[in-house]
Amino acid sequence: MSDTVVSAEHLCKTYGSGETKIAAIRDVSFTIRSGEFVSVMGPSGCGKSTLLYLIGGLDTPTSGRVLTCGCELAAMDDTAQSRIRCSRIGFVFQFYNLVQNLTVEENILLPMVMAGKSVAHCAPRLEELLKMTGLTEKRGQIPSRLSGGQQQLVSIARAVISEPQLILADEPTGNLDSRSGAEILRNFQSINRELGISIIMVTHSDEAAACSGRVLRMQDGMLVDDGLGPEEDAHG
Ligand code: ADP
Repeated sequence: MSDTVVSAEHLCKTYGSGETKIAAIRDVSFTIRSGEFVSVMGPSGCGKSTLLYLIGGLDTPTSGRVLTCGCELAAMDDTAQSRIRCSRIGFVFQFYNLVQNLTVEENILLPMVMAGKSVAHCAPRLEELLKMTGLTEKRGQIPSRLSGGQQQLVSIARAVISEPQLILADEPTGNLDSRSGAEILRNFQSINRELGISIIMVTHSDEAAACSGRVLRMQDGMLVDDGLGPEEDAHG
């Protein structure tokens, strides 16, 4: 497997045209190695979510390119794109996006059901994830019976069930109190260290960023710090 999980080359994204044109991402280049846990920080409106969406193929660049898990998603047709997204990338958002009339267990298994995969085949992984997130006793509950932190843990387990190479998380602790946020971050660390999944997390929180191994800093659509020391920059 390639050592690089994400590589962005002169990535640009503009929205609108004429006087309303906004350069959300301006000539951004960086590389993330497999197994890294990286935070993306910067002021509101600096382009963090746009960058995450470009990496996940949920948006397409205006110019430049990004390779995610070895694929240029923007150059692939919809079917091929969604196949890569479903099998190699897990998404976690600030507002959990759970299906309210399904149980915890059904929500976690949903990506497998949607992909037509055998649920029996991933039973051991389901048990492992329920244990890791502390949700075993809640497996039969519907999301509205859980706290915000527990609902976010369900969305994390759902992102991990298909054994992705990469998790993309947009402000995963942004809606949570600090104790629940810390629990989410502990789970991300376990997923990164024990399961070897790379994580890219957009966050405003210094505490959250401190749990990652590297911080990309953005300002006005530009990458102002790639989080690598001068030595690592020199050697790529
Ligand atoms: P951040 O995540 O750092 O808060 P965003 O990536 O959401 O920043 O936004 C970067 C800039 O792009 C902002 O000026 C925002 O208003 C603009 N933007 C983001 N998405 C769209 C869109 N779909 N249409 C127009 N402008 C957008």
